[in-house]
Amino acid sequence: MSISDLIETRLRASMSDSSQGRRARLAATLAVGLLSRRERAIPWWPAERIAELQRRRLRAQVVHAAATVPHWRELFASRGIDPASIRGAEDLARLPMIDAASLVADPMRFVSEAYRSRAGREVFKTSGSTSGLRKPIFWDHASLLLRAARGERDRVVITDLAGERWTGVVAREFMTTEWRHTLGRWLGADTEGHQRLLILPADFSSRTQRTIYSEKTMIPRRPIHYHHLPPTVPFAVAAAHLAAIRPRIVFSFGSYVDQFLHWVHASGAPVAMPRLWVYLGDRVSPGARALAQAIGCPLYSVYGAMEAGTIGFQCERREGFHLNVDLCAVRVVGDDGADVRPGETGDIVISPLDNRAIVLFNYRLGDRGTLSPVDCACGRRLPVLATMDGRRSEFVCLGDGREVSTIALEASFGAELRRTVQAQLRQSSPGRLVWRVVAAERSDRPSLAEAIVARGRQVLGESTALDVEFVDGIALTDAGKFPRAVVASGAGGALP
Ligand SMILES: [Zn+2]
Repeated sequence: MSISDLIETRLRASMSDSSQGRRARLAATLAVGLLSRRERAIPWWPAERIAELQRRRLRAQVVHAAATVPHWRELFASRGIDPASIRGAEDLARLPMIDAASLVADPMRFVSEAYRSRAGREVFKTSGSTSGLRKPIFWDHASLLLRAARGERDRVVITDLAGERWTGVVAREFMTTEWRHTLGRWLGADTEGHQRLLILPADFSSRTQRTIYSEKTMIPRRPIHYHHLPPTVPFAVAAAHLAAIRPRIVFSFGSYVDQFLHWVHASGAPVAMPRLWVYLGDRVSPGARALAQAIGCPLYSVYGAMEAGTIGFQCERREGFHLNVDLCAVRVVGDDGADVRPGETGDIVISPLDNRAIVLFNYRLGDRGTLSPVDCACGRRLPVLATMDGRRSEFVCLGDGREVSTIALEASFGAELRRTVQAQLRQSSPGRLVWRVVAAERSDRPSLAEAIVARGRQVLGESTALDVEFVDGIALTDAGKFPRAVVASGAGGALP
């Protein structure tokens, strides 16, 4: 057992007694700081050392599940599986799959008996973007706190891409008041122009997480360089905030920056873009990606889920996602449930290994993706998810029976959609599609509709009916995301 493992074990133990005195908070802060140092190194470890860490974490999680989580305890007993025989990620294939429906049906079966009461854990709601149902996800405080350290893996990339120095980034976290700010500057920390703008819903988990940090450690709840904006404000208001705050980094959902970039392009107004735009939650279309490149605002993404925390993160190359496999084992499986080879696309199945409050093994996220058959050129040895094709719910059914992701279709309609402010694909029944479009102010609607329909015949074929409907706006979901595709209920096709 390494010193870092000991620190982790002690941190987990210290969270279960509810002492939140100054000494306990100081100790927890130091622990997070020390663990962050190791977290920064883990992506660069040799593959075998990463695999060994994954095996240790998996074994600990299985023992915990067998002892305290009803679903797994009963499953192991009924199938005659000895928990001790699950020794590595390859053994997960012996367990059945679970999915959002299993969780929605009876969430408490997956919650550890150690975290049934309100003490020591938080409950978050997933966005429900796959199943349409917002599921409660429990997180224990120690694992939430560990996420502050784990985040170091992508934090170093983000600050590097934004051209910031690491010391300044750490120092600024603690600057909640002007006098601390002045002190930091006096000590030589780079404290200027480091504003961040978060365009995310108020109930987004990071806020709750920061509240826990401030209760359990000396990490402040509200550093002064964080600014918040709900994703429901008009784009012009967001642009005014960008101009006033001049943030170096903006955080939002993928669909938000996607729509925002289209708005910037359509309005033709000069907008003060940040050095880096970090998106999460959902994806960005190829059309918006091209617009970002033209404007000179790099996009960066982390791949996460409420059920797992950060599953993967992009490196400086901003191509695939390096998977945090020691914290969340990832399989890609075909329709028969068997693992597909790297390079082949399948369903993403995760087994989070950090969170003790809820235990999910072999959990189908509803995303499709492809593992890379080769190592990344950056030198990190965490395996790479080369492509993430998005939620199954973002697939529509064409007249000839093909299932196509709306992201791929948006790319095919790229030239036409650039003339719009927002666009959403609606499937009323398999083979019947409607582009719901918010046209740019100066656009010629009849010619735009004609161009979209003509493109549709070309890319969808004659067997798919395509219409265009002009609308004034497209509402966000309750979770604050922009719904890229709507498949009418009972329409069959691609909904899981
Ligand atoms: Zn890389």
